[in-house]
Amino acid sequence: MTAPTETAIKVFISHRESKCDECGEELGRQAWFTLEENKGAVCLSCADLDELVFLPTGDAALTRRAKKHSTLSAVVLQFSRARGRYERQGLLVEDDALAQAEAECLADSEVRARRNERARERRVELDEEYVKQFAKCIRDLFPGCPENREQIIAEHACLKYSGRVGRTAGAKSLDEAMVTLAVKAHIRHRETNYDSLLAKGWHRNEARAQVKNRVEALLVTWRG
Ligand SMILES: [Zn+2]
Repeated sequence: MTAPTETAIKVFISHRESKCDECGEELGRQAWFTLEENKGAVCLSCADLDELVFLPTGDAALTRRAKKHSTLSAVVLQFSRARGRYERQGLLVEDDALAQAEAECLADSEVRARRNERARERRVELDEEYVKQFAKCIRDLFPGCPENREQIIAEHACLKYSGRVGRTAGAKSLDEAMVTLAVKAHIRHRETNYDSLLAKGWHRNEARAQVKNRVEALLVTWRG
């Protein structure tokens, strides 16, 4: 659990010459200090915050993650004379936490890039007209099918069948049996524990038999 904002440690960047009330050190202008009860300004060293590293505001995901991984963190504020209020400058976090957060964000952006690439390749393969017809066919046959599922099923079916039958031929040969088969396969994967049975080493036929009733029941529901 992260501490609620109101209890977060606050570090202020001073506009004036300041002095640490604990060690007496002159902190100069633009000093970073925290305010402690019954004391005035306390320097980061005295406040045991000087091991933390500064992460400026700007990258929301990085900030959120760094804060999550940091046992100790502090919000850095500076008074804006122009706006008449304290404004958040960033966060002081543990170095390790920041490194971990950076690694996660980097991994994310790589994952995202790969996902986009796959989506792009997929779109190239998909015959939009075919998908549209297929989706419409599903919606007609299964009016009780949850929203947007017909699109997901149709895209998958299109990828699957486009290599086997010519796209134009495929569009023409859309029939009830073929569409039902695609819907059935979708239900099996998405609405039953079929995939986890396979993962546990069940044979496909046994696993199919196991989920058959659930698949049939949903087919009836989706038919409306
Ligand atoms: Zn001090």
